[in-house]
Amino acid sequence: MNALKEWRPIFVENSYIPVLLSKIAPLEIYAICLGPVVFARGSVSDTLRRHESIHWQQMIELLIVGHVLLYCWDWILGRIRYHQDWKGYTSPGNKAYYRTRAEQEAYMHASDVHYLAKRKRWEWLWDYCV
Ligand SMILES: [Zn+2]
Repeated sequence: MNALKEWRPIFVENSYIPVLLSKIAPLEIYAICLGPVVFARGSVSDTLRRHESIHWQQMIELLIVGHVLLYCWDWILGRIRYHQDWKGYTSPGNKAYYRTRAEQEAYMHASDVHYLAKRKRWEWLWDYCV
């Protein structure tokens, strides 16, 4: 499992996929990690590269399908929990997005250049709550 820590997704810059997905998502998507491939509207900064790499590691841990299910579960739970308490966000759906455990870990550690190397498997599942 340690060798998998070195796996990084493939980045596709200047992709139209985030533009298309933004039409059905509750927020504007700049980049999205779909399994081992990250599609970005424009160029990919080092911080975004780490953010999406954290998502890829989460997906490996939950065998992709589990990540999708958990992400949807967390978002729906957040959408219900924060339907009237979303001050500081653009909408209840936007707050629910930021409150998913996957996004909390990715945003919290995207600026840390050493995080992916020291990150512990599955801890984000218990370290964060919606
Ligand atoms: Zn993210």
